[in-house]
Amino acid sequence: MVRPKKHLGQHFLKDLSIAEQIAGILSGEGYDRIVEIGPGMGVLTQFLLKSDKEVFVVEIDGESVRYLEQSFPELHKHIIPGDFLRLPLQETIQPPFAVIGNFPYNISSQIVFKILENKEMVPEFGGMFQKEVAERITAEPGSKTYGILSVLTAAYYEREYLFTVEPEVFNPPPKVRSGVIRLKRKENYRLDCDENLFYRVVKATFNQRRKTLRNGLKSLNLSLEKVDEELLKLRPEQLDLQGFINITNSITQP
Ligand code: SAH
Repeated sequence: MVRPKKHLGQHFLKDLSIAEQIAGILSGEGYDRIVEIGPGMGVLTQFLLKSDKEVFVVEIDGESVRYLEQSFPELHKHIIPGDFLRLPLQETIQPPFAVIGNFPYNISSQIVFKILENKEMVPEFGGMFQKEVAERITAEPGSKTYGILSVLTAAYYEREYLFTVEPEVFNPPPKVRSGVIRLKRKENYRLDCDENLFYRVVKATFNQRRKTLRNGLKSLNLSLEKVDEELLKLRPEQLDLQGFINITNSITQP
């Protein structure tokens, strides 16, 4: 057994049927490999290993790594010890691969950003987050949780909130409820605009989410002359993906 360490966000899932459900959320389409982040004692891993995919696990905790080596001889050479956020994915695992996990909640947004940076390699991504983050990722315009994570993931992935998980099924129980989501990469995931500028527009406007888009965009120091007046009066939370793309294109136009 691994003794849970708080600083590593370790909350081990006790409920096997929920573990099986989470392992079952992946469609399996478009890849032959699965990467699990933070396997801990392997509660999800045991079910992932039943699929026809090649399973890799990335675990930062040495004690968990030793536990996995002893309990899952079939994972031999597929246990990658270390910090997922620092892992050079391209050099480590042959893409394409799906990414799944009962994620360490202290770094969950950073995990999402890393997936977005590597979206070419990741056709599917899913798992368990603290409920609030799961909601932020899957939120639609107009909702309180709609923000940077929602727009940036919506740009490249179809997002689904699947189900909620209560704290009692973990050891130790986290302070918050959890939510399981699935993101499937869109067939055509090239954005019809300058993607770097799109990122900057989304970040700049949501960093001042109570202000109008006109005010939020000022910090970029770019000409807003070609942007629709009515659009600039809105707040970022009222704008859908296409709205952000349109703004990006109007700013770029010479
Ligand atoms: N999947 C297991 C454990 C979930 S707790 C279960 O459901 O029971 C989160 C896990 O992520 C822990 O095992 C923790 O050690 C691991 N972890 C935390 N930070 C990590 C990082 N940066 N890279 C890889 N694994 C990490």
